[in-house]
Amino acid sequence: MSVAEFVPATQTELARWMAENAAAARQKLLPVGGRTSLHFGFSAESDCQIDSRELTRVVDYPARDLTITVEAGMRIEELQRLLVAERQQLPVDIAQPVRATIGGAIACNASGPRRHGSGTLRDYLIGCSAIDAQGSLFKSGGRVVKNVAGYDLCKLLIGSRGTLAVITQVTLKVKPLPEAAGWWWLTFDTFAEMENVLERLLTSAARPMALEMLDVPAAKLVATESRLPLPTDCPVLAILVEGTSREVAWQLDVLRKETVPFGVQQIEQLLDQDARTLTAALTEFQVPTDEPLTFQANLRPSRCWEFAELANRLDVAVQCHAGNGVIIGQFPEAAASRDQALTLLQPLQQFASAHTGNLQILHCDPEWQDDLPMCGQPEPAWGIMQQLKRQLDPQGLLSPGRFIDRVPISA
Ligand SMILES: Cc1cc2nc3c(=O)[nH]c(=O)nc-3n(C[C@H](O)[C@H](O)[C@H](O)COP(=O)(O)OP(=O)(O)OC[C@H]3O[C@@H](n4cnc5c(N)ncnc54)[C@H](O)[C@@H]3O)c2cc1C
Repeated sequence: MSVAEFVPATQTELARWMAENAAAARQKLLPVGGRTSLHFGFSAESDCQIDSRELTRVVDYPARDLTITVEAGMRIEELQRLLVAERQQLPVDIAQPVRATIGGAIACNASGPRRHGSGTLRDYLIGCSAIDAQGSLFKSGGRVVKNVAGYDLCKLLIGSRGTLAVITQVTLKVKPLPEAAGWWWLTFDTFAEMENVLERLLTSAARPMALEMLDVPAAKLVATESRLPLPTDCPVLAILVEGTSREVAWQLDVLRKETVPFGVQQIEQLLDQDARTLTAALTEFQVPTDEPLTFQANLRPSRCWEFAELANRLDVAVQCHAGNGVIIGQFPEAAASRDQALTLLQPLQQFASAHTGNLQILHCDPEWQDDLPMCGQPEPAWGIMQQLKRQLDPQGLLSPGRFIDRVPISA
């Protein structure tokens, strides 16, 4: 049965419509952008989807000031196209850029390989406008980087998955576009050797933008996605550098000298278009296709190699953003039932908890959701988060059951 939708042409029209809804129909609402990850997290029942596809204008773009203000329905590809025309970029890797919107990416706190060198959307979002479930339009932050008194509501909306407010406009800091990029794709016999390299790179003369550790199943998936002829029979460490062509050549040379003494088996260099192709393939790894389960684990960077080694033994494909300790995992098709998934999940979850980490489920069969740690291990702050949700949305109209409001709080 198709769900009703409302497609606002302006944020004022949306605010009026949401105020009327809260006062009368009280429909349950789900904000949607490119619909690339509505299947992520808890699935939410809604009476009406608020589609941002007509909220795609550029509000302000003083390129000289390295900021841009756009409406939340703008597709990532269109945003990057506008920025590239000024030799600028939003240096955050977001999957499925043709369809994904900036509002959706912010609501999911999407990031990718370059979060190591250039940070996440939290580092670039400096202002936003949004509408709460009662139809109140509010602004937070501004068009310039400034310290405003009070709570940073912008940051609160990052990763809120459409449960606190509908984002309508965003102001982003942007960065100059690097002239060139280059990857080293290094294979190793063991994950322990890779950890020795990562430790060495802490004092590297080069400035890695990404440090991607892949176990064998993940290396095969990324190589297939990229269609690049890359060796994938051993664990992989991929290192990205950016800058002018001369800076990239120099950094790649420095990295080769710093890493080769640590038992590198095979080494592939990817420059320019091939480098962009690999970055895109690594970014797309996070979006599940037909894998039965996708998870995100968070660990100390120094623990990634052991987790990857364990996952490799379990034939679970893992991509570790090894500079930050963020790990994305895809279960093999063999884990087709809830019980098989739970069996495979247990040792990974135990490892994460035993090392002060966490593991949450990004995507799985909706039937399994109430039996799996969709939001990871219970957090003492969940109670406060639920109170905040009730404060901002007292009638529970925005994406009910989609996120924290769905998890049981122990007394
Ligand atoms: C928990 C989670 C983690 C993810 N992590 C990553 C990652 O690390 N890297 C990566 O590349 N991709 C990640 N994704 C996928 C990525 O976020 C999406 O591919 C894409 O950025 C979402 O954009 P979209 O426009 O397609 O949003 P949709 O799929 O349409 O919506 C995604 C979510 O955002 C909400 N939403 C959409 N528009 C708005 C709006 N204007 N205001 C408020 N809420 C809105 C929706 O209600 C929904 O909950 C993640 C997705 C989720 C759910």
